[in-house]
Amino acid sequence: MNAYFDVAVIGAGPAGSSTAYFLTRQGFKVALLDKSSFPRDKTCGDGLTPRALSVLDDMGLLPSLVKVGHRVNAVEITVPNGRVAMMPIPREPKFPPFSLVITRKILDAIICERAIASGAQFIGEAHIQGIEEDGQGVVIRGEQQGHPVNIRARVAVIATGANTKLLVNMNLLRTPPHMMVAARTYFENVEGLQDHFCMSFQNVPLPGYGWLFPMNEGLANIGIGFSTREGRPSVQSALRSFFPVIQDLLKHAHQIEPIRSYPIRTDFATAPTFGNRILLVGEAAGLVNPLTGDGIDYALESGKIAAENLATAFDLGDLSLGQMARYDQRLREQFQATFVFCEQLRKGLLKPWLLNFLAPFAHHHRVLWDLWATFNNDIQTPISSRRHVRG
Ligand SMILES: Cc1cc2nc3c(=O)[nH]c(=O)nc-3n(C[C@H](O)[C@H](O)[C@H](O)COP(=O)(O)OP(=O)(O)OC[C@H]3O[C@@H](n4cnc5c(N)ncnc54)[C@H](O)[C@@H]3O)c2cc1C
Repeated sequence: MNAYFDVAVIGAGPAGSSTAYFLTRQGFKVALLDKSSFPRDKTCGDGLTPRALSVLDDMGLLPSLVKVGHRVNAVEITVPNGRVAMMPIPREPKFPPFSLVITRKILDAIICERAIASGAQFIGEAHIQGIEEDGQGVVIRGEQQGHPVNIRARVAVIATGANTKLLVNMNLLRTPPHMMVAARTYFENVEGLQDHFCMSFQNVPLPGYGWLFPMNEGLANIGIGFSTREGRPSVQSALRSFFPVIQDLLKHAHQIEPIRSYPIRTDFATAPTFGNRILLVGEAAGLVNPLTGDGIDYALESGKIAAENLATAFDLGDLSLGQMARYDQRLREQFQATFVFCEQLRKGLLKPWLLNFLAPFAHHHRVLWDLWATFNNDIQTPISSRRHVRG
């Protein structure tokens, strides 16, 4: 395969597909590569925050997602002593006032399709092993069903999620970062499912939490996530130990899938986000919230920011390292304070005695909620709608 693109995006999860969409919307020629073909599964809690829905709305996808997703209006938090605090989804004027739960098999296929419909050329089953500079741009090398792949582009965007192999190969990450680990499975025939996320600190290794996210037709995504440390149980056995905590809901339920686990990168605060003619988006840049574990929102948002920055770089005819660094600057302005704050909260707040103490306050005064909403600042920078003129 020999072709020339403005941008080659590696990884077609939410980060890669949103990058491709926002670039093609401005008239750029984009290749969107993934080692899988779609639809494909991704181990996840399947919860979409209002922030995620806001970007998906910008992509014209919200009406169709509302039809296939389960709407969530509140969060129920159970602290270690069993006390429950219920809080509505925080209302931010620029975001939808609700969340959705949608399997990643459906969600990622819809977002990828949107990028393709907007003009991105999707190249599936393409496992990328390296990216080299060639003077004019980059050459993306890998293989597709036993055949070599060579894609040329002016810039590459890496959107490979928590899989750090390509980043380590390219020396963009010197050592693999410390990761959290999470696991999930699905149950059917779950009784009494309501319109809220259930998050629980009971019987889970802290800092971490267990969850039950309601889906349509009595289905639920049930999982657990925590920081790995020596002496801790495996994430699979920790999830099995969590099931009894929600046994009332599971009385007549059946587990319909094996437990699957996957690492989570939350190290954005210290992570590299760019290189020569390269930008990193989504979880490849460590963009998963260290406190809540949500990353689809940051994946979509960073894709939009990357597209905006690349559009400016192409317009200026400046693809220098300094110009790539402006993307890092934008991300830091947008997310650094949130990530540092949430990392501190994760370490300092998620202790049994403190959670037990704070639960009644959170329930009655929404102290934590308001604090959280204050720090969880938004991005609503409009992408200019001008068409790109090749420089
Ligand atoms: C158990 C669990 C539960 C979670 N729950 C939630 C939740 O409820 N809500 C939420 O917002 N976030 C959640 N997250 C985090 C969320 O899943 C990720 O942050 C999100 O998927 C990141 O999106 P991404 O596009 O950066 O990467 P991904 O979605 O991981 O996509 C990366 C893509 O790159 C492809 N790829 C990788 N390497 C290569 C290669 N070398 N060549 C070609 N293609 C490649 C992969 O096939 C994949 O399609 C959870 C994570 C886990 C593990």
